[in-house]
Amino acid sequence: MSNYCIGCKRELAPGQQDCHICGAPQAYLKYHFKSILLFVISMVLIAAFGVWYVGQVSLKAEVERNNYVTEMTDQFDRKIRQLELSLAETQEALKQAQAAGSQVSDLANQEKAKLAASEDKATKAEARAGWLSKENRRFRNQITELEQKVKELEASVNSANAVENEPLVEPPQEAVLESENQIE
Ligand SMILES: [Zn+2]
Repeated sequence: MSNYCIGCKRELAPGQQDCHICGAPQAYLKYHFKSILLFVISMVLIAAFGVWYVGQVSLKAEVERNNYVTEMTDQFDRKIRQLELSLAETQEALKQAQAAGSQVSDLANQEKAKLAASEDKATKAEARAGWLSKENRRFRNQITELEQKVKELEASVNSANAVENEPLVEPPQEAVLESENQIE
């Protein structure tokens, strides 16, 4: 069986370890060691590059995601600030409305108080009117009594006069004539 160099393909003696012409080792692994090493290094480099590239890509994606999240957060913050502002405005409007409402109810209470006061006055006036009409009636009764008394007094005076005048009967007509004649 002839033996050939795996490097230069020249014929070698059987059991020869290295080629006497090109110096290539005749063991397969030994001969291809450099290629395998190069291949492994290439693979490692490619894998490292792949890892780095994937890392870059994911880093970029993460940066983009972070930017997106930041942007969305900013938008939400702006929206929240707007909502807070409109909430504050609404609260202010509510406060004003409540103030106006309490003013209205204050006015209503004042009106009620005025009404109560005037009702009180009216009641007092009514009571006073009642008292006055009672007094009026009392005075009228007193006047009537006094008038009655006056009438009675007049009547008694008249009757007394009548008694006094009774004896003073008019003198007879002749006597009057006589006296008239005597004066002449
Ligand atoms: Zn050789």
